[in-house]
Amino acid sequence: MNLDFKCLKCGYDKYQVATCIIPEKNNTLKLELGKYYIKTCLHCGYSEMYSAKIIAQNEKNELYEPAKS
Ligand SMILES: [Zn+2]
Repeated sequence: MNLDFKCLKCGYDKYQVATCIIPEKNNTLKLELGKYYIKTCLHCGYSEMYSAKIIAQNEKNELYEPAKS
């Protein structure tokens, strides 16, 4: 995962990434397990969560463009 990161709270640019699995409902109301990345600011602990599925889709379709800093 190569998302640019700058903490929204304090502007720090170092982070750690954790992975977690969360049950989610799809269109047929069946439970699926969704994988998420959690980026945590190493300075203040503020965390952002990203859907691994959507990141993978965007990388495949080459639609994803990282925010320019
Ligand atoms: Zn921070």
